[in-house]
Amino acid sequence: MAWIDFVLFILLFALWVYVFVSVTITKLHKAYLIFHFFMMFWPFCQFAIKATENSTVQYFYVLLAFVDMGLLAVGWLFFTLLLTNHSLPSRKTSLLIPLPALIGALASIINPNSWFVQPVNGGYFQRTYGPIFWITAPILIGYGIVSLYIIYQTLVSDNAPRIKKQVKQVLRGIVVVIAFICADILVNVVFPFSQQVIPGLTSLGILLSAVYFVIAIHRDKVFDLVNIAHQDIINTISNGILVLDDNERIVEINRTLAPFLKLNIGDRFEISNIFPERGTAEKWEIFINTYLEYPMKRAEIDILYLQNDPCYVQIQVSPILVSGTRVGRIVTFQDMTEIRRLIDETSLQNEILQERNQSLITIQQELHLTNQKLQEMAVTDGLTGCYNRHYLTQQLEHEVNKNIENQIPFSILLLDIDFFKLINDNYGHMVGDEVICGTVSLIRQTLRPSDILARFGGEEFIIYLPDTASEGASRLAEQILNTVESNAIRVPHSIQTLSITISIGLLSIHQFPVDNPLNSKDTLNDMFQSVDQVLYQAKREGRNRIASLVK
Ligand code: GH3
Ligand code: MG
Ligand code: MG
Repeated sequence: MAWIDFVLFILLFALWVYVFVSVTITKLHKAYLIFHFFMMFWPFCQFAIKATENSTVQYFYVLLAFVDMGLLAVGWLFFTLLLTNHSLPSRKTSLLIPLPALIGALASIINPNSWFVQPVNGGYFQRTYGPIFWITAPILIGYGIVSLYIIYQTLVSDNAPRIKKQVKQVLRGIVVVIAFICADILVNVVFPFSQQVIPGLTSLGILLSAVYFVIAIHRDKVFDLVNIAHQDIINTISNGILVLDDNERIVEINRTLAPFLKLNIGDRFEISNIFPERGTAEKWEIFINTYLEYPMKRAEIDILYLQNDPCYVQIQVSPILVSGTRVGRIVTFQDMTEIRRLIDETSLQNEILQERNQSLITIQQELHLTNQKLQEMAVTDGLTGCYNRHYLTQQLEHEVNKNIENQIPFSILLLDIDFFKLINDNYGHMVGDEVICGTVSLIRQTLRPSDILARFGGEEFIIYLPDTASEGASRLAEQILNTVESNAIRVPHSIQTLSITISIGLLSIHQFPVDNPLNSKDTLNDMFQSVDQVLYQAKREGRNRIASLVK
C-alpha cells in the first residue's frame, strides 16, 4: 500500500513544478510555492515509513512528517495573514505565534517515555499515539481554525471586496485539508475499524487542496496582482464606471457609481432613464441616437442635473471590441461641476480684469490730456492765448545762443498800446481786456509761422523774428502798425467800435562780438533794455510809430 502515498507525493511534486514554471511569480505566489513544497513532505514521509523495515528510519520519517505538519500549520497562518492584507504582527508576536507548534515538535522529537508515539510489533509501520500527540494534534488544528476565523472575518467585512474571490478559494482549500486530516485521525487513530490502517487520507486532502489552488491560480487568476490592482483602481477612482455586455446587461459597476444608479450586476441598463435636467435637449437627442443606432461609435455628452445643487456630469460611451467584434461597452461618468465652476470663475475674473484694464486705460488717457493741458497752460498766457513771458525768455535764450554761434542776424519788436489807460478808464477793465485780445489777433494775422509772439506784461508784447535783418523787420513792423490802426475793435455787447494804435520798438542784431563773446543771459537782458528804450523813443516822438536800432 506504500505506493498510494508515493503516487500522491509524485502528483504534488508535479503540481509544484507546474505552478513554478507556468505562473508569473509574485510575492503571494512565492509564499504559496514554499507552502506547497512543505505539503509534499507529508505523503513522502508516509511512503518512506512503509518502504523500509528499519524501525529507526521509520521513526525518523514519522517525526519528520509531524514536524512538517507543524511547519505547515504555522505557514498557513502567515499565508492567511498575507493573503487577507493583514499587516504582519510585530516581531515579538511573530516569534510567539510558532511557539506552540515548536514546543509540540520538540516534544515529539524527544518523545519522553514514548509519550508521543509507540511502536507496534517493534516497528513504526503501525504505531500507537501517546498524550503528546493528543496535545500537539489539536494545537495544529487550532492554527487551522484561527486561519479559518481570519478568513471568515475578511469575508464578512466590507473592507476588502477586491480580494474576496481569492479569500473564498483559500477557505475552500483549508476546509478540504482539515476535513481529510480529521477523517484520517478519526478513522485510523480514534476509531480504528480494523488492524489495517487506511492509507493516504491526509495526503489525499493535501493533494486535493493543492489541485484546488492550482486551478484557482490559473482559471480565476487568484493571487494575480495586476488583476487585484485593476479592481482596486476601478473601485477607488472618482469617475463612475459601468461595463455592459452586448445585451446591455451590467457586468461591472464600480463603487463610485453604484449609489447613484441603484442598479446591480445582472440588471439591464437603460440609457434613456438618465434624463438631463434642461438646456441640453438637442445634444441629448444626438447622444441617445448615437448610443442606440451606432453602438460601434464613441459618444460623449455634458449634462446638467438638478439635485440639491446643480451638477454637471460628462458621460462617455465606448465599445469594447474583441478582434473587431463588439462584445459590450464601457460607460463612464465624470463629475464636471468643479471644473465648470472653476472655468466660470476664471472667465468672470477675466471679465472683471478686462473692465479694470479698460478703466485704467481711460484714466491714463485723461491723465495724458490733463498733462498736455498743464503743459500748455505753463507756456501760454491765460487772457490772450499767446505765449507767456517765461516761455519767450526760455526760447530766446536758446535761439540767441544759436544765432551768436552761427552769426545769424535776427530782430525783436516790443509793442505797446497807446493811451491804454484811457480805454480802461472810459470803458472799464473788461473792455480793456477785449481790446488787448483784439489787438493780439490783428497782430497774429501779419506774422509768419516761425515768428514767436508773447505777452510781455500788461498791454505790451514782444515778437521774436528769427533770421530777419532790420529791413525785413521794419517791413513787418510797418504792416503790424497799419493793420492795428486800420482795424477798429468792436466793443462787446455794444455797436461801438474802438480804433487804437500801437507804438513799436525795433531792435535788430546784425553783428556779434567775436573776441568778447557774451553769454546768452547777459545778451538777453541787454536786448530787453535796448528795445525798451527804443519803444520809449517811439512814444516820445508821438506814438503810432516805429523807432528802430540796429546793433
Ligand atoms: P502810453 O501811450 O504811454 O503807453 O499810455 P498808456 O496809458 O498805455 O500807459 P501805460 O502803457 O503805462 O499803461 C498801461 C495800463 O494798462 C496800466 C494798467 O492799468 C493797464 N493794464 C495792464 N494790464 C492790463 C490788463 O490785463 N487788462 C486791462 N484791462 N488793463 C491792463
Ligand atoms: Mg504799457
Ligand atoms: Mg500803453
